[in-house]
Amino acid sequence: MSTDRARIEIRGIEVEIVRKDIKHLHLGVYPPEGRVRVAAPLRLDDDAVRLAVISRLAWIHRKRAEFQGQDRQSRREFMTGESHYFEGRRYRLDVIESTSRTGIRLRDNAWMEMRVRPDTRRDAREAMLYSWYRVQLRERIPELIAKWEPTIGVTVADWRIRRMKTRWGTCNPQAGRIWLNSELAKKPASCLEYVVVHEMIHLIEPGHGERFRGILDHVMPGWGMRLDELNRGHLADEEWVLRPSAATVQSPGTA
Ligand SMILES: [Zn+2]
Repeated sequence: MSTDRARIEIRGIEVEIVRKDIKHLHLGVYPPEGRVRVAAPLRLDDDAVRLAVISRLAWIHRKRAEFQGQDRQSRREFMTGESHYFEGRRYRLDVIESTSRTGIRLRDNAWMEMRVRPDTRRDAREAMLYSWYRVQLRERIPELIAKWEPTIGVTVADWRIRRMKTRWGTCNPQAGRIWLNSELAKKPASCLEYVVVHEMIHLIEPGHGERFRGILDHVMPGWGMRLDELNRGHLADEEWVLRPSAATVQSPGTA
């Protein structure tokens, strides 16, 4: 098949035109930045292609806006102005280059101030935020475990924090160990408490059956509201979305 490529600008949009031995014109807008490509029959001249593109301009603009919106949502840059969450609240990130003090602090209930050395790359800024999240969780988890151990009747031998893509928490009943997702730092305290309790119950009941439900209902009435809150809202604009069902809090091998 013979092909012939050209680029023309139509109303400010660069359009790649590929002429092929085909019957109909195909117009496509491609992610991530909304590149526009037209596959046109050999017999169609540039003016005919131009008209076809102009007739679909509104659609092209809509598709491009969609891709740009998706891109903004899926790829966080950890730059000033971005929204980030802590304990259920939304903060605006304020990245400040500093040659002395570095670190994160919350300011005026609205800003998450991140002091970094000049030229700190995106991945290092992300690592700084997640290390801060872990520090915050480390301060809150021991008292939660201590509070719930006598109620549930278990002893947590060890607990750890890990960034996980599909689970809020996991556990290892043999080792008496629970793992908690560092994403929980973004959630309200009631959600963190629910996941801690959920995993602690797994230390005595690995499944999600009647016995598990019975214990959960008994020690934490109204836990469903915490679970709804956990799976609602802001995670949708994060890099991943945790599956919105009771099964998102799972133990390995017990799903
Ligand atoms: Zn579970």
